[in-house]
Amino acid sequence: MITVEQAQALCLELVQTAPSETVALADAQGRTLAAPLYARRDQPPFSASAMDGYAVRRVDAVQHAVLDVVAESAAGHGWDGTVQAGQAVRIFTGAPVPDGADCVVIQENVTAAGTQIKLSEPIGSNMNIRPQGADFKREFSLGSPRALTPPDLALIAAMNHPVVSLTRKPKVALISTGDELLMPGGDPAPDQIIASNVFALHAMLRDAGADPNILPIAPDTPDALDNVLQQAADWGADIIVTIGGASVGDHDLVAPALDRFGVTRSFHKIAMRPGKPLMAGSKGATAFLGLPGNPVSAVVCGHLFLLPMVRRALGQSDVLPRALTARLTAPLPRGGPRAHYMRAMFEEGAEKRTVTAFDKQDSSMLTVLADANCLLLRPIDDAAKNAGDPVTIYPII
Ligand code: AMP
Ligand code: MG
Repeated sequence: MITVEQAQALCLELVQTAPSETVALADAQGRTLAAPLYARRDQPPFSASAMDGYAVRRVDAVQHAVLDVVAESAAGHGWDGTVQAGQAVRIFTGAPVPDGADCVVIQENVTAAGTQIKLSEPIGSNMNIRPQGADFKREFSLGSPRALTPPDLALIAAMNHPVVSLTRKPKVALISTGDELLMPGGDPAPDQIIASNVFALHAMLRDAGADPNILPIAPDTPDALDNVLQQAADWGADIIVTIGGASVGDHDLVAPALDRFGVTRSFHKIAMRPGKPLMAGSKGATAFLGLPGNPVSAVVCGHLFLLPMVRRALGQSDVLPRALTARLTAPLPRGGPRAHYMRAMFEEGAEKRTVTAFDKQDSSMLTVLADANCLLLRPIDDAAKNAGDPVTIYPII
């Protein structure tokens, strides 16, 4: 069986960067810039006053000087004259500094009388002027790929772009499989359960910047699987995810269905716990990921394989889950022949980060998963660990 790292690399090979699309700036939060974006102007576009006060010539700005106030420059209403010797222009924050002036005396340091001002205080070293282009100059650029943050949106607006070119959200179809499943709110027979993990995956995908779509549940028949796979393809999915039916039991029909659909298998089964029956493949530009049905297995594999595929489709470079080191609060026995991703809780202490693995590690238990904030990795054949030993964790919320 291949390792998690090998499987991650193979999964990433199945994914192509999605094409770009033009999006209104107000809708761009969290999305990925598809190409470098250049400023269309300097910011500020003119030398601007940083304070309310008087624009003067630096040589005139001496304590006790008396200057004539000849005009006013306000934000959005500049004055196009030139400040001469012995003159001052009333100015406000953000207003253009008029020609001739190279210093703004703040109003607190001035006594005004009629059309004259007297500089009551010594002039400091601060000219109170934001030079043209001090924030950014024309042709300044934001590099790509870049996941846009709220401050980025303000910066792009100041660069005078109303729309941006973003990587299209990868379309991810989610297909639950199993005769026993029905959607939440239904009226389950005694031998039925609710399709649950698909809602975690849907939310994770949305947060990661994908466009997920929960398709109808496919019962365990070849026809039903063929139909829903076709639906996913017709919708234009970039990644088609099946959930369940991935092992080799009599009712595990996903691998043969993918074969019939023309998917070239990349791998099936990995040395991992939970998640051993994972499979992946591709057909043309469409990637396929077959997740195990157990709720925890599906979500763990979602973090380790599906989200990296989405990030790759978004053109991002740092796509694998973020690993941290934490110290165990309790000993752990020797690891097994498969890498174990234990559900655990980490805490950021003042001195160090600690982590506690939950006692229950059954891959069907959603209550344990819901309490976990990280996965604790036990590598293949990991030696027994003592309290205080460092381990690798992957935050999941
Ligand atoms: P399977 O991989 O189909 O053998 O499913 C393994 C276990 O996960 C079984 O107990 C299924 O009932 C359960 N299961 C499969 N799909 C889902 C799902 N979408 N939501 C919750 N449980 C599921
Ligand atoms: Mg099943």
